[in-house]
Amino acid sequence: MSKPLYYHSAEELVALLNKKVISSVELTRAVIERTRDVEPKIGAFISVNEADALKQAEASDKRRAEGRTLGALDGIPLSPKDVLADENQPLTCASKILKDFISPYTGTVMQRLRNAGAVIWGRLNLDEFTMGSSNETSYFKPCCNPWNTECIPGGSSGGSAAAIAAGQTILALGSDTGGSIRQPAALCGIVGLKPTYGRVSRFGLAAHASSLDQIGPMTRTVADAALVMEIIAGLDPHDSTSYNAQVPVYREALKAHAHVPKKLGILKEFFGDGLAPDIRSVVEKALRFYEKQGCELIEISLPKTTLSIPVYYVIATAEASSNLARYDGIRYTHRSTKAKDGIDLYRKSREEGFGSEVKRRIILGTYVLSSGHYDAYYLRAQKVRTLIRNDFMTAFESVDAILCPTTPNPAFRRGEKLNDPLAMYLEDIYTVPVNIAGLPGISIPCGFTTNNLPVGLQIIGKPFREEEILGIAQTFEANHPFAQQTPIL
Ligand code: GLN
Repeated sequence: MSKPLYYHSAEELVALLNKKVISSVELTRAVIERTRDVEPKIGAFISVNEADALKQAEASDKRRAEGRTLGALDGIPLSPKDVLADENQPLTCASKILKDFISPYTGTVMQRLRNAGAVIWGRLNLDEFTMGSSNETSYFKPCCNPWNTECIPGGSSGGSAAAIAAGQTILALGSDTGGSIRQPAALCGIVGLKPTYGRVSRFGLAAHASSLDQIGPMTRTVADAALVMEIIAGLDPHDSTSYNAQVPVYREALKAHAHVPKKLGILKEFFGDGLAPDIRSVVEKALRFYEKQGCELIEISLPKTTLSIPVYYVIATAEASSNLARYDGIRYTHRSTKAKDGIDLYRKSREEGFGSEVKRRIILGTYVLSSGHYDAYYLRAQKVRTLIRNDFMTAFESVDAILCPTTPNPAFRRGEKLNDPLAMYLEDIYTVPVNIAGLPGISIPCGFTTNNLPVGLQIIGKPFREEEILGIAQTFEANHPFAQQTPIL
């Protein structure tokens, strides 16, 4: 084998497992050992479960020896972001307030993956309560970019992106409220898909902003993202916002959608000032590739998307302030020992348990929902949200998908933007509009900057047309083997 086991795609590994060339125990050991080697430099995991993962792998090997498998991921290591509920596993959200919390139940996505035979391996690092773009606000430790460990991996799903890029796991899950899957995927040179709002159940996902959150795959290849989507997508009676639409066999559907010339919208506003020259030239090269494939590139303008960041920080903080009210020092793990009375217990536990970015958002969110400000901020933001979505839907009458950079900048140095929240918020300028409009978006590696940092291409699709953007992504991947380059660690 030319590359180490831990750098294979899940698709390749399933084939090797089926042919009995490797065992799941061997594969699981490979990611465990790789993690032991590189984790001190990366910090992708908040916790690991080596013995438990090996036990799951043994059970998988036993099943295969008996000629059966549970499902399409039998024996493949998969690591969740530490916001997904899985019974008897830690669920910290990278926060002190939940540092010793153990989940009492398994959410839908984790249950479906366990039912498909995945070996659940470790819990991945993130920005506290998924608030951030750099994975620096984790209570436990920052996570580093495998391509340059002085740099951030992106966030909030920084641990998921770094773990895939560094070969510490085979498949990962992230969650995306305003870019948290796609932005770190771009900065670490991997594939990240945010599904259409409602495509994947949120039952068991610790809520950040419920009208924007989605769980999605973070993988080495486009086909692996399709494979995970086949398992996790679909209606769930536990989530009333999950949508009742047939789930395609994505890997089959993407074959049909790959290589078909498309009408691709080039979003003018996303190629303006503020886009790093390095990113621009790499992404423009990718656009020329599509043109050579026979796609028609059509310039489109969506002027209202420029309002996305203010709209997002009103809606997301409003919802977060409400969602985070449950962490009261009584029902969850961190409880202040310095409180004088009930109200003081609530106040001190939250003061000690939450980090400063989370507090900033609770304060902002409470303000925009307060009587007297509600109409001016929250209600108005909701109205602009509708206008942004309408703009996208109008654009989709003339194009099949929209192409743009995933991020305005490549990975930046740790500490560079930590004390400048606005600069940090602007890192999501190209990803946030997709959540506001509830659309599917995928980021794929499309090249490197002159400093050898990965660049991501974002493909935004029509609602519930994940197979179409997967197909467009695969056309590029199939012709650009550099997307499979790995960092030197
Ligand atoms: N970076 C954005 C934020 O801080 C998006 C985070 C996310 O998608 N969870 O809110």
